[in-house]
Amino acid sequence: MTRPDNPYVIIGGGVSGMTAALILSKFGYPVTLVEKRQRLGATLRGFSRQGTNFDTGLHYVGALQPDGALTRYFRYLGMPDLPFADYNAGGFDRIRFIEAGREIRLPLGKDATIDYLSDIFPEDKGFVAAFYNEIEELYNSSTFLNFNGDVRDAVNAECRQESLAARLNRGTRNPILRAVLSIYSLLYGVSPQETPYIQHARVAGSYFDGVKSIAGGGKVLAAAFEKLLDKAGVTCLRDSEAVSIAFDNAGRAAGLVLREERYIPARGLLFTAHPGLLPAMLPAGAVKPAFSHRLASLEDTISSHTLFCSCQSVIPIVQGSNLYVCLGNDIERAFLPGCSPADGPFYISRGISGKLGAPVYQEGLMFSAPGSYNQYARWHGSRTGQRPPAYEDFKAERLEAVRGVLLRHCPELKDTQALDGGTPLTNRDYLGSPGGGLYGTKHSLKQFSPLPATRVPNLWMAGQSVIAPGVLGAVISAFVACGCILGMDRLQKELQCL
Ligand SMILES: Cc1cc2nc3c(=O)[nH]c(=O)nc-3n(C[C@H](O)[C@H](O)[C@H](O)COP(=O)(O)OP(=O)(O)OC[C@H]3O[C@@H](n4cnc5c(N)ncnc54)[C@H](O)[C@@H]3O)c2cc1C
Repeated sequence: MTRPDNPYVIIGGGVSGMTAALILSKFGYPVTLVEKRQRLGATLRGFSRQGTNFDTGLHYVGALQPDGALTRYFRYLGMPDLPFADYNAGGFDRIRFIEAGREIRLPLGKDATIDYLSDIFPEDKGFVAAFYNEIEELYNSSTFLNFNGDVRDAVNAECRQESLAARLNRGTRNPILRAVLSIYSLLYGVSPQETPYIQHARVAGSYFDGVKSIAGGGKVLAAAFEKLLDKAGVTCLRDSEAVSIAFDNAGRAAGLVLREERYIPARGLLFTAHPGLLPAMLPAGAVKPAFSHRLASLEDTISSHTLFCSCQSVIPIVQGSNLYVCLGNDIERAFLPGCSPADGPFYISRGISGKLGAPVYQEGLMFSAPGSYNQYARWHGSRTGQRPPAYEDFKAERLEAVRGVLLRHCPELKDTQALDGGTPLTNRDYLGSPGGGLYGTKHSLKQFSPLPATRVPNLWMAGQSVIAPGVLGAVISAFVACGCILGMDRLQKELQCL
């Protein structure tokens, strides 16, 4: 039975779950946050090997200028000042095209980007300016940044959008320029052919709104969230796995059963884990089969092969910049089911976690190459730490091939030592994505992303798969879901005062 003192129960202690817990508790509700990993914010925290820290779920984030969208959301949550680190103004992202023998930098700020790209692509000058102006306009007018307009309309509008690839094809024939303008597809894991143009704008536009990294890495943000949750009196159950959602006689979601057979009665539940995991938690017959089927068949974003390397010297090319390496001019190949990791494109990012009390300078670098879950399907039943030798051989061969190609084309990386590596199966197990996706399910023209308000009374959804990807997308999804719970007007009023 729903009682006024029952808590809102949130499944998943990632960025979205922690954000939602803080919002609901600000409105005076008791909240219980349930996380199956031992620590909250597990995706953000990264890990360490031999004294070197590696960032996983946070390298760089946009919307962080003093009045940027994420800054305002963080301010609302009571987030303290975080130790943001700036990127190189002249090139926070670098893209090296091997076949074409050229390297292109993306400077900070829209005008600088337009000027620089117009200089090197003079015949496409008009299109470059039009493209970036549109990106900025789409980003700024997003319903999810100012809460003006109807959320359902905004989600539906996405499906009527043209794809990023179609917009690029209308603007330019230059394959290198097309690759430059769509390189961030690798950061949200959906091919330009499938990406709604507006979804691309939510990511690319956020970088004009203040792109930063956090000194100390994602674990600094996770720790700041944890402190706020503690202060707000949110009950955080760590190492606690949600296994099923209980319904009352009226067909409303009414409680949560945990792995340890504990039952938590709830006034409402917010599910923030991978949407494909929700159907298994619902009792048979509780929801329409179409709902379960739709969630279970959502496609995952791109997967990866990842090498985590340490280096005892400064590598200038990745100081204050991320490096992308494309062997050809086409980034679509990363999204093909049979993609070979050694064909790239590659993404190289230096961790800002720094040294972990190491006596010598020690830097953690992540080399990421494409991966396809299908190539690892034969080891589907295995778990991290218990994989058969055939898997280890297969993985080692692929990761060595990636490293070989990268060292050939980026000799600057020669002093790095590989300390660990991951495959699509590693992603599946660590990120909780059934298809090994790096960023949850695809925001694609080919499928409808789940909406925060489900048709089940008292059950809502949030997370990177719901509205938009990344840390910003996860935060926004929590605000929108809480708007559905509390009343959009109530939340909107508070946000507009910020
Ligand atoms: C390698 C990598 C690099 C990235 N880099 C960036 C970046 O530079 N910038 C950026 O903005 N974004 C980046 N991202 C994406 C960003 O980290 C995510 O979008 C964001 O952390 C997602 O938060 P979330 O709350 O939606 O999901 P999650 O962090 O996945 O949270 C869901 C939580 O639910 C828990 N859970 C699952 N099932 C259950 C259950 N049954 N019971 C209880 N708990 C459960 C999971 O353990 C998990 O902690 C990166 C991601 C990866 C993988």
